[in-house]
Amino acid sequence: MTEWNPWHGCHKFSAGCLNCYMFRRDEQIGLDCNIIRQTKSFNLPLMKNKNKQYKITSLDDPVYVCLTSDFFIEEADQWREAVWDIIRSRSDLHFKIITKRIHRLMECIPYDWDDGYENVTIICTCENQQTADERLPVFLSLPIAHREIIHEPMLESIEISDYLSGGGIEAVTCGGESGSRARICDYSWILNTREQCIANNVSFYFKQTGANFRKDGRVFHIERKLQMPQALKAGINFHSTIQSSQVNNKYDTIFRRIEASEFRSSFKLDEKDIKYIDDKGMDIIRRHAFDFIRQRLAPAFLKNDGKQTPMRGHPVFKAQHATATCCRNCMKKWHGIPVGTALREDDINFAVNLIMEWIERQRKNNSSLKTNIE
Ligand code: SF4
Repeated sequence: MTEWNPWHGCHKFSAGCLNCYMFRRDEQIGLDCNIIRQTKSFNLPLMKNKNKQYKITSLDDPVYVCLTSDFFIEEADQWREAVWDIIRSRSDLHFKIITKRIHRLMECIPYDWDDGYENVTIICTCENQQTADERLPVFLSLPIAHREIIHEPMLESIEISDYLSGGGIEAVTCGGESGSRARICDYSWILNTREQCIANNVSFYFKQTGANFRKDGRVFHIERKLQMPQALKAGINFHSTIQSSQVNNKYDTIFRRIEASEFRSSFKLDEKDIKYIDDKGMDIIRRHAFDFIRQRLAPAFLKNDGKQTPMRGHPVFKAQHATATCCRNCMKKWHGIPVGTALREDDINFAVNLIMEWIERQRKNNSSLKTNIE
């Protein structure tokens, strides 16, 4: 995940802030988190390396903005215009802004915002029913090109169907609270949000369990490093069939380039592959893709690079050849990901998302072909 924190510091604002990890972290190093200050990475998206290339490239997006503050906090009003300038000038990147202060958006937008920047997603945080009912009507009434909701830390079951039904929300993410004083997160709340998302065809992501996770009445204490993998292991993410134009455009460009290769475009999923995917479900296939990429491509040095991905035997193998994510040299040639260093989490996510997008498109082609024949 790429982070850009142009300023640091915040004030506790609502129930979700009670155990804010930033306050904990700053306290440990003797900093007063209530003092809002610019950081050294204020210009990060404009910074270049010694080869005169941007440090953050389009492979790094989305870029999460202000994870150690709130983008719309009052003290940052003096700096925000400069940040909008940076966001505008890096139209090749997609920026995600998470906020609890959605009511301030109209005071903080740049002069040319209109219906929102195409390269910005605003994510409204609602940790309980009260904050959802206060913030979401405001959120939906504002001019924003891409909107998502996050329930983190999720403090209770939250009903948001009425807000999802209008079609203005692209995704909902849920997660528990971390830290030694973490409040409980109950799996049934997560599943309830998932059901609401599926009913409204909105993408749903279970990001992390939190430190104290309750399932079927039993509380599990989960180590920090296992909170995200455990959530992924649940296999309950849901990918809406309505994709934002931004995501479509990004993949269209990559696929157009790759499909020009006779070798890459020769790979297709057959009936057997489609049946396997349908039997397992897309979440399991995604987990397989993660496993293959992590085990066979992620290490810095691979003795068998170029030979680690079979030509058949699993739909993900075919997808890897079709998307040039089959070996590190192909990843370098087609996607600019360097060899000789371990893949970063963002590179892994990029490869898996590309593989899954190719599989999804193959499935769609396959079913429309069937319908035409019938
Ligand atoms: S708004 Fe976010 S960053 Fe600010 S105190 Fe609350 S949880 Fe922490």
